[in-house]
This record gives sequence, C-alpha cells and structure tokens, in this order.
Amino acid sequence: MNTEKKAISLDAVASLCKRRGFIYQSSEIYGGINGFWDYGPLGSELKRNLKEAWWHDVVRTREDVVGVDCSLIMNPKVWEASGHLGGFSDPMLTCHQCKKHFRADHLQDQLAQSEWIDSLRSFAEDGEEGAQRYSERGLKKWASKKGRRLAPGLALIREPEAVWPKLAAALEAGGDSLAFEEVASCVIGADEAGASSLCPACGGGLTEPRQFNLMFKTFVGAMEDSASVAYLRPETAQGIFCNYRNVLDSSRVKIPFGIAQIGRSFRNEINPRNYTFRSREFEQMELEFFCHPSEADKWYEFWRDARYNWYVNLGLQSSKLTLRAHEGDELAHYARACADIEYEFPFGISELEGIANRTDFDLKQHQEFSGKDMRYFDDQTREKFIPHVIEPSGGVDRAMLAFLCEAYTEDEVPDDKGNLRSRTLMKLHPRLAPFKLAVFPLVKKDGMPEAARKITDDCKAAGIAAFYDEKGAIGRRYRRQDEAGTPYCITVDGETMESQTVTIRDRDSLVQERISADKVVECIRDRISKA
Ligand code: ATP
Repeated sequence: MNTEKKAISLDAVASLCKRRGFIYQSSEIYGGINGFWDYGPLGSELKRNLKEAWWHDVVRTREDVVGVDCSLIMNPKVWEASGHLGGFSDPMLTCHQCKKHFRADHLQDQLAQSEWIDSLRSFAEDGEEGAQRYSERGLKKWASKKGRRLAPGLALIREPEAVWPKLAAALEAGGDSLAFEEVASCVIGADEAGASSLCPACGGGLTEPRQFNLMFKTFVGAMEDSASVAYLRPETAQGIFCNYRNVLDSSRVKIPFGIAQIGRSFRNEINPRNYTFRSREFEQMELEFFCHPSEADKWYEFWRDARYNWYVNLGLQSSKLTLRAHEGDELAHYARACADIEYEFPFGISELEGIANRTDFDLKQHQEFSGKDMRYFDDQTREKFIPHVIEPSGGVDRAMLAFLCEAYTEDEVPDDKGNLRSRTLMKLHPRLAPFKLAVFPLVKKDGMPEAARKITDDCKAAGIAAFYDEKGAIGRRYRRQDEAGTPYCITVDGETMESQTVTIRDRDSLVQERISADKVVECIRDRISKA
C-alpha cells in the first residue's frame, strides 16, 4: 500500500464533502448565499462529535469548569460595553495591507499620531543634506540609525520608483520642514487619493469608507424603530460575561473557575472566503476562565498549551500546527498576552483558535455599563477583586475544516485481484468519525444479513454510531466507508455462521482480524479509547 500523503487542494476536499454529504452550500437550489453553509448527514455527525469532544475535555472532565447556553440576541447595551457597537457601526476604512479597520472620523487624528508618518516628517525636518537620503536605501538607513521602524505596507517601500521622486521634489522645494500632510500626500499622491487614504498603522492603501456593520441587525417586537433594534451576537463570550454573577451566585464555583459555551455567532464579514473558513454564520467554542490576577500568567500558559495539545491529540499533525504569540501592535490594547493556534490549510496558514489573557477588561466594562458589582469576594483571604480572564476561543467550523483537510488522503491499495487501485479516504480520528463502524453481510443470504443487523443494533444500543450496508460488492462498500471516514468495518461471512467470529478491518492500515461476534462492542470501545 502506498501511504504517502500528497499535497491536497481545497477543491478536492470540498468536492468530497459535497459528494458524501459533509457540507453543502446553503440554499443551493436558489443559487446559494455567500458566507453560509449547511452540514449534511455525515457533516452534522462530525460536527456534533467535535463539539462533544470539546465539551467532554473542557467541561465534563474538569471540576473547575461549568457550562452555559445563552440567547443569540441580548440587550444591545451588551454590545456597547463590549465595544462591538462603538467600533463597528460607523463608516470604516480597511487597510489592504494589514487588514486593520479605522473609523473614518478618527483617521486624521490617528494619521497625525502614526509612527511611520512621524518618521517621515522628522526625516524631512532633519535637514540632512546629501543624495543618499533621496533613495529608498537611504531612507531605510536613516530610519534604522534613528531607531525607527518603517511601516511594512508603506507605499514608499512598495513602490519606491513612483513615490520617491515626488517626495524628493517636495523636500527640495519645501526646504527642511514639511508638514505631515505634505509628506503623506507625496507618499500616496494627493491628486490620486489624498493623505487620508493611508493606513495609520502600516502605511498601506485603504479602501473607500464603508458602512462596516459587523453585527447583523434585527428588530425585536412589532415596531421597526430605533428603540427595537437588536443584534445577532458576533461572539458567544459576552453571554458568559453577562452571566458571571449568576453562575457565581447559583453554583458552588470558586476562583479559579471557567464558564464555557458552544453556540452560533454571526458576523457580517465583508469578504467571506476559503470555503467554510470565513463564514457569516458559524459556531464558536469559548471558555472564559476567571482567576486571581496574580495567577493569570500561569493559567494563560496552561490553557494555551492544553488547547494546542487538544488539536494534536485529535489528529492534526503537529508539523502543520503552530502556536504563534502576538507581539507589539498585534496585541489588543486590553490584552496582556495572546497566542493563535494556526493550521496550514491548503490556502495558507490561518487561525484556528486564539488564547488571550484579557485581564479584567470585560468584567470592568460590564461593571461600568450595567452598574453591577463584578468583584469577587474571597472568603479565605477577605480580598475583593475583579478576576482576570483567560479566554481560549475557537471556531467549530474552522476546526472542522482543519480536521477534514487533515483527514483527506489519496493512496493506492490492491483490489480483489491484487491490482493497485487509487482510493480516497478520510483519516478522521475515531472520536470524530461520523460512524465508528460499518457492518456488512458478505452476501444477502444464509442468515448473514440477520447476524449483521444484530451486531449493528447491539452497537447502536450501546451508544456507538454504526452503519449497516448490504448493497453492492464488498470492495465498493469498503470504499464508501473509507470516504465517509468510518474507522472500522465488520464483515459477517460464511465462517461467522460456524465459528461465531467476524472480520474487523482497519480503515488506515487495511489490516483485517477475526474477532468473536459477541465482542464487537467491547473491541470497538477499546480501539476508540486507545486511538
Ligand atoms: P479572524 O481574524 O480570522 O477574523 P478573529 O481573530 O476575529 O478571527 P475571534 O474574534 O478571536 O476571531 O473569534 C474566535 C474564533 O472564532 C476564531 O479563532 C475562529 O476560529 C472563529 N471565527 C471567527 N470569525 C469567524 C468566521 N467569520 N467564520 C468562521 N469562524 C470564525
């Protein structure tokens, strides 16, 4: 058997997902709708298993984590407190280079304070003579001598030939002191777009101002007026923060403890892309872990590593996974530390989950906006404090896409006559696989269907997802299950009737063994637990 894993394309994965009923386009018969997806019979099982695995590992097997299940629509004040309303309901410009968003009405101020434009202005004001400063290299040299960083997306760096002569001419004409607007307009060309088209963070080009409403708006009640406006939640985390007091008062949790939630979120993404990776409706698996500020660093490290290992243990190759710490500008203003778990998808390396030390930012915001006391009282130490929060926040759909891409394999296996045939299989971890086993009667006679049905029913009764199939040649039945990701196939054959044994075939190794027919449930459980 040739087991070498070839590089795969997203199209190949998407085509298998459609063909086998993992993922369909939403409302496909009407031409679909961008950014929305449906999960088919196999996909919905896989998704359920994925969420079960998370809930089991993050909530049920721990004594310090409890769950909640909050409404999708919340009081709109929640979104004022969280910053989602203020930050995302105004005309916004997006940087083509670094993808940051800026409110149009803040842009001039942010530009005036931007580090890179400050660098250029002081360069212009420096009064240094000599031709070397009129070259891109000269500018870079000057910047590094001054201990300054040139913005990576800066038009001057991207298109030095177009920009530099203009700046050089302005320097020549304007003498030693140029206002930042003059410098900026040279960099982009005032006649083309004006200084306001530069990204304050990196100097990249900006889009036109757009009404950037990340949150889906709706109306609650009979009237469609401003008093009844509400939003579909863009993250599950705020439901947790709003219930932090309720959980403290109604359960016996003590700090450190976590509140977890799995549920739908909605974001009106400007550019949904890469299959299900960036959707407008998706599910999140989020944990807010509340701890004493002095222990926040320790818990941050704990959850960062635990979450990384979770993906590895469920089958994502560690060579394709990376844990990338955020640095400098990338870190949100309230966060003390943040790391992304990233996966090498066929379209590039992208975020699967973020783990952040959010300090006391969220609870403080809710304390301020709601007027409710969010402090925790430690009855041992008599200390009152606002807990710090560690947040591992992952996407169900993104994780699922990563597992599907990882599982997709093409290899060659011998057929009944020993000729090599190519096969496609989904090497899904048995915990995630939609069906744990398929049961086949070799032929549709001699009591084999009845014996196979009994094994299927026994497995189902024991809570193991089993699939019965008697249609078509046995080889084709195996192939169908390989594509569905079923890790084990049980075949009832002539010998079963005599020795009460069946064969069990392993999807990945193709090894077949005979086991006692009444030990199937035990054997499958054992294999899954050791996988
Ligand atoms: P991105 O930078 O990719 O937009 P984000 O950093 O805004 O993601 P968070 O707000 O931290 O994402 O959300 C936590 C998780 O929710 C992400 O790691 C991702 O797995 C998932 N997620 C966020 N946006 C989407 C989306 N549009 N489609 C699918 N999953 C998403």
